[in-house]
Amino acid sequence: SKARMFDKDSGISVTFKDVAGLAEAKIELEEIVEFLKKPEKFTELGGKIPKGALLVGPPGTGKTLLAKAVAGEANVPFFSMSGSDFVEMFVGVGASRVRDLFKKAKEKAPCIVFIDEIDAIGRARGKNVNFGGNDERENTLNQLLTEMDGFASNSGVIILAATNRADILDRALMRAGRFDRQIAVELPDLNERKEIFEVHLRPLRLAEDVQSEFMARQTPGFSGADIANVCNEAALIAARKSKKLVGKEDFLDAVDRIVGGLEKKNKIISKDE
Ligand code: ATP
Repeated sequence: SKARMFDKDSGISVTFKDVAGLAEAKIELEEIVEFLKKPEKFTELGGKIPKGALLVGPPGTGKTLLAKAVAGEANVPFFSMSGSDFVEMFVGVGASRVRDLFKKAKEKAPCIVFIDEIDAIGRARGKNVNFGGNDERENTLNQLLTEMDGFASNSGVIILAATNRADILDRALMRAGRFDRQIAVELPDLNERKEIFEVHLRPLRLAEDVQSEFMARQTPGFSGADIANVCNEAALIAARKSKKLVGKEDFLDAVDRIVGGLEKKNKIISKDE
């Protein structure tokens, strides 16, 4: 199966410390950590624990990182699949992958199931006639809805899903008892970029002229993923010059390079549209 799992035995553990900025998203997700750690505390009073939450925001803003951090904080297994993994040409494959994923998750509960790019299966039904028959994708979506309805809210399985297009999702996904919470994961502001730089500067051997505040000012509009990319690129540029330390100049070169890459990507997109 394609489902990937990380747990405490695999040695990969992400916590909220690894996620810079996104204070509000973290507060909302902390609640889910509590649900996973102490479900009785909530169910004893007759409350129903939510089954899932939808992380909504632009690419590279840390949605996957946050989902892993919830699992890491609660110390539970993390199962992840991408929406595009479910979209298959062969009839029944998508639906059976959904069934497998939930079967495994229920066996390992409490746990987190993360579905990235949920829009690949969760697009509103019967709207994209130009793609011809969408029956297969609809079957997969229906299976997902069935699975979500089929497990009890106190089963210990919490599903997090990510999308950058909440507007195109089938409303049925957002109904009570499914993804009834939406958590916004926005592009970082100046201060958040500074914090993200601090996370990704940590492993580098830095010259004294490198400052997170200065770098944050040079990178408006950058996502966390872009910033991680700048830091790595700067280290490679410095190494290519056989430097002993990564300096400010290397970071500025890396920013230029990444801005160039982003511009190219945008040009290609606008040509197509
Ligand atoms: P996509 O929508 O493209 O799947 P995403 O929102 O899931 O993107 P992630 O995969 O979580 O983004 O982020 C990619 C990488 O960017 C992370 O592994 C991390 O290195 C870095 N990153 C993104 N956001 C943050 C953040 N807030 N703090 C620290 N690092 C971040």
